[in-house]
Amino acid sequence: MKFVVALSFALLFSISAVAQTAIKPPKETALDRFLRYAKIDTQSKEDQETVPSTRKQFNLANLLAKELKEIGAENVRVSEFAIVYATWPGNLPDNSRVPVIGLLAHMDTSPAVSGENVNPVIHKNYQGGDIVLPKDPTQVITVEKNPVLKEMIGDDIITADGTTLLGSDDKSGIAEIMTMIDTLKQNPQIKHGTIAVAFTPDEEVGGGIDKFDIKGFGAQFAYTVDGETLGEISNETWSARTATVTFQGKSTHPGTAKGIMVNAMYALADYLSRFPHDMLPETTEGRVGFVHPYAGTIDVEASNLKILLRNFDLSGLDKEEALLRDMVKATQVKFPEVKIGIEVKENYKNMKEVLKNYPALTDNAMEASRRAGLKPFIKPIRGGTDGSRLTFQGLPTPNLFTGGENFHGKLEFNSRRGLEKTTETLVHLVQIFAEKQK
Ligand SMILES: [Zn+2]
Repeated sequence: MKFVVALSFALLFSISAVAQTAIKPPKETALDRFLRYAKIDTQSKEDQETVPSTRKQFNLANLLAKELKEIGAENVRVSEFAIVYATWPGNLPDNSRVPVIGLLAHMDTSPAVSGENVNPVIHKNYQGGDIVLPKDPTQVITVEKNPVLKEMIGDDIITADGTTLLGSDDKSGIAEIMTMIDTLKQNPQIKHGTIAVAFTPDEEVGGGIDKFDIKGFGAQFAYTVDGETLGEISNETWSARTATVTFQGKSTHPGTAKGIMVNAMYALADYLSRFPHDMLPETTEGRVGFVHPYAGTIDVEASNLKILLRNFDLSGLDKEEALLRDMVKATQVKFPEVKIGIEVKENYKNMKEVLKNYPALTDNAMEASRRAGLKPFIKPIRGGTDGSRLTFQGLPTPNLFTGGENFHGKLEFNSRRGLEKTTETLVHLVQIFAEKQK
């Protein structure tokens, strides 16, 4: 019960300048919502022909649609692609004077780590020090690698049990958006324009957003709620490509292979050995791009390697591609009997190219964070979001924090305050858009 009071106090305190009435807490806390969603397995899968890539994502989609209807949202629907859409109507005398703001979060979790039987653990009243995950003591969230823990003393920290990821990415975003609606419902005195909400599948495998109905969604601008540390706002993402390098050899019975067999694996190994050590994800940070061989198959007859290319600048991305192509040539010279091919696909572009024309989106998010008592900061995303693609399809969509940390791994965590402060920021954000249009 304590946190409910704390949240309502925080809201009351920060909104009091705008509305001189007490803010009622939501019916259900963001944490309770989060725990319910985190337990539903929604792991997506690479290289599937269908959207969603895994049918089980419908389980969460249908639950969210049901909850949205129960809370009173309008136009609630789940598309054949498992995208959940809903509208929360504005309560202004003339809603048409305020842009419809979209809020998005994704339902799937990363294919990198199991999302089956997620068992969230609440470390109540955290008092500092490393956090050992109960089901696997080799999984330790250290203060050294997570200095943000120093700001979380007294908070309740939520982790997985050490055997799975937590799925804070991005069920935190979902819980925060849902709790924002809940808060608005309890507090009709908070004035805002119409809000469009969507929960999407397959963000982690990059497929779901292709099926997104921007027109039907009806927003002029949107935010993905899919970032990390409290206060972190992103209006810049990677520009991204994926390369597939294929190595064609010749298989035969090893007993009679002399002079006939061409083992493609050795060519692949040679190619791998050419990756520059200082251009890898494990050796770069900040604004420095990378090349990342992340998956492949090895086989005598046909081997292949998949590689991510990432850079904030298109010229940098071109250089990475040129490097990979030069490496193909070098390996080809060394292994003339193996047929080596390379194919490069564009995945998405840095959304800053578009968002620089809509500075109010970033400014309003910064202001909303400040009203929630946070210190906002801009951070380029060393990744992509659904927003990158939406932005280029005509729906400018920067990314907001969720309070979560260590995405895509067993050491993922968030906290009660992280969930509540993000919710509070969203409540402020929709108000700011309404205020600015008066
Ligand atoms: Zn995410």
